[in-house]
Amino acid sequence: MKAAARKMSNGSPANKGVFGIHHVTAITGDPQRNIEFYANNLGLRFVKLTVNQDDPTSYHLYYGDEVGHPGTILTFFNWPNISKGQRGRSEVAAVSFLIPENSIRYWIDRFKEKRIEFRGPYKRFENEQVITFNDPEGLELELAAHKSSKNRDASVWKEGPIPIEHAIRGFYSVTLSEGGYERTASVLIDELGFVSTQQDGSRFRYEIPREYAREEENIGGASIVDVLCLPYTQQAIIGIGSVHHVAYRTPSDKQQQVLRQSIVRAGLNATPVIDRFYFHSVYFQEPGGILFEIATNPPGFTIDEKAEELGTHLVLPPWLEPDRKYLEKVLPKVNLPSSSKTAKVATRKENGINQ
Ligand code: ZN
Repeated sequence: MKAAARKMSNGSPANKGVFGIHHVTAITGDPQRNIEFYANNLGLRFVKLTVNQDDPTSYHLYYGDEVGHPGTILTFFNWPNISKGQRGRSEVAAVSFLIPENSIRYWIDRFKEKRIEFRGPYKRFENEQVITFNDPEGLELELAAHKSSKNRDASVWKEGPIPIEHAIRGFYSVTLSEGGYERTASVLIDELGFVSTQQDGSRFRYEIPREYAREEENIGGASIVDVLCLPYTQQAIIGIGSVHHVAYRTPSDKQQQVLRQSIVRAGLNATPVIDRFYFHSVYFQEPGGILFEIATNPPGFTIDEKAEELGTHLVLPPWLEPDRKYLEKVLPKVNLPSSSKTAKVATRKENGINQ
């Protein structure tokens, strides 16, 4: 039975300097399997192999579009020794990637060929078709086919295994599962500048209005947060296969400071600005218990590697370079995806196989 979707009034609040999702960070226990799934099966670019700055003996893996633009970046902490996550409320329940409207058939065929179980496609709200699936460690993912993909063709990863016309166009949305929705909604609306747009049953949708997203240097989209209100669900336990946090993007350090002050004034406990080298971060917990981050768009992933070299070797922030020998010894060995057509041709020739 399908509940009718309801349009909600959205008013026209001032933009707060958040333009959508910056990145989503999840947890893996198996970096090799992770790379194979996201780079080879989903066709994301492997953008960066580095270490967790708070725990440098573990990897931090980054995937995205051709240079890892904000709004396309999925990252993983490699924490093999923690428990598997348990689904519930107070977590990011699903991460949704955007695909072109006519690409559903292609992806269904690909999932069948790769033996990836999926559910759908099903219609959500008025104009999106969704396929739901899981990564090898249980992280819930979606492909959402929507016409807004047309605006996001420019930086699609062109050298991956997926034909360009069907490749993933970054994030579409994230879905938060919460015991209630109103206090989370007030942070999304009053602090981050989202507007309430639609409701379907227990799914409440919040979006950054498109006219604001366009102001932001051509990085439109990835600007939807759905809140699923699941009051009778157990509390999630974050572990392998869970999302650790979701980061929202802001264009400058100055804007980040304004956001931080407003978040603190709202009674939330925010960290100071932390230099993550590829962006600057402020973290805080939203009232439902999910870890949010405000991350700056600059400087980005080409600060320490050329665009063509992204993701081809271990990169360390300058302050960890003196420890490189030790870290290379203790970090698990991983085979990285070949990142250029030239490399792929060479591999085919060497192996005598066509893949
Ligand atoms: Zn983060």
